[in-house]
Amino acid sequence: MTKSQLQAITDTSVDGIILSDAEGKVLFFSRASERIFGYSSDEIVGEDVRLLMPSPYSEAHSQYMANYRETGRHTIIGIGREVMGRRKSGEVFPMDLYIGEQEAGGEAGFVAVLRDLTERRQDEEQRRRLFEHSAAILAEQIHFVHAVSHDLREPLRMITSFCGRLQGDYRDRLDARGQEYLSLAVAAAERMGLILDDLVEFAQLSTEKEGASPFDSSVVLAQEVECFAEAIRRTGAVVTQGELPWVVANPIRFARVLQNLIGNALKYVGEGVSPRIHVEAAREGAFWRFSVSDNGIGIDPRHFGRIFEPFKRLHPRGRYDGTGLGLAICRKIVEGFGGTLSVRSSEGQGSTFSFTVAAEGEAAEDDRTKAP
Ligand code: ADP
Repeated sequence: MTKSQLQAITDTSVDGIILSDAEGKVLFFSRASERIFGYSSDEIVGEDVRLLMPSPYSEAHSQYMANYRETGRHTIIGIGREVMGRRKSGEVFPMDLYIGEQEAGGEAGFVAVLRDLTERRQDEEQRRRLFEHSAAILAEQIHFVHAVSHDLREPLRMITSFCGRLQGDYRDRLDARGQEYLSLAVAAAERMGLILDDLVEFAQLSTEKEGASPFDSSVVLAQEVECFAEAIRRTGAVVTQGELPWVVANPIRFARVLQNLIGNALKYVGEGVSPRIHVEAAREGAFWRFSVSDNGIGIDPRHFGRIFEPFKRLHPRGRYDGTGLGLAICRKIVEGFGGTLSVRSSEGQGSTFSFTVAAEGEAAEDDRTKAP
């Protein structure tokens, strides 16, 4: 390598390069070193490298050099380590330091390659603060939702209770229209109770993987189907399933996802149509993709994005009841599994909701196995 090639390398390097002799006197100070420390090469060449170190590193360095001269043994050469440097302005800053031995003109000495970590540390600090800030906001939101829901339940209980009394004690004094209005008020109060339940559940769900354990998904499905026995009998629904695997997730939350998807599949069917629901799973890398298909009213693809948002419903209440939070809850749960939830459908053609869950025996925490 020619001298000018060497020069080009040291000039271009973003890491500072410093050569010193065995006594610690600076022999060479690269351009990046000038930028990092604020000294020009002319100012520093010939000076002691300790000028670039704050206490206690400069004292430690003197000690180190003395040991090295006496024993010829070095303890830090070649090892990358984080130390503090001192700029000309006096500012002390973190840097990564690598030290090697060099021999220039038969004289032993050292070569130091160093990287200024100031910006990286600032970025890390900013990220940490942002994280803390969002965690605090989240905690506040959860607290707020709890407090609001708690405060709303009391008047709601009063409404339900007084409506109940009206229905009982005043039944004879209400005409058919009055009774109908009262029934509507009771139904609305019940719906509000359900919304509050879902709201608290939604707010509380974190997207962390919590309480994950291996379980047989077909057992969970059987339990959920059992819970819907009455609706299945009433609507003449048929639920079929493919072979279902063992997976690793929070089983209660997994059950909740199936409950919402099967509940919707039973609910969103055309007049007089018996629901046909099929649940199956297919392997996708380190995940299983579960799908719940129905023969229901289907969804216009234009609305695919909206239906997963809280309180977004495509139908007027009355025809199909619901809180509008079911799919939002499902999505949050599935994201907590490290998976994704999506839908395929077209209007009048039924829908297929699918979600991914880590397969048993796979390291789902590993980024390489992020769900497709
Ligand atoms: P809801 O409590 O209203 O059922 P969801 O969040 O579960 O709330 O669903 C949001 C909307 O997505 C529903 O209001 C409905 O319009 C649509 N939807 C959900 N599941 C289905 C399905 N299987 N078939 C057709 N439409 C559906």
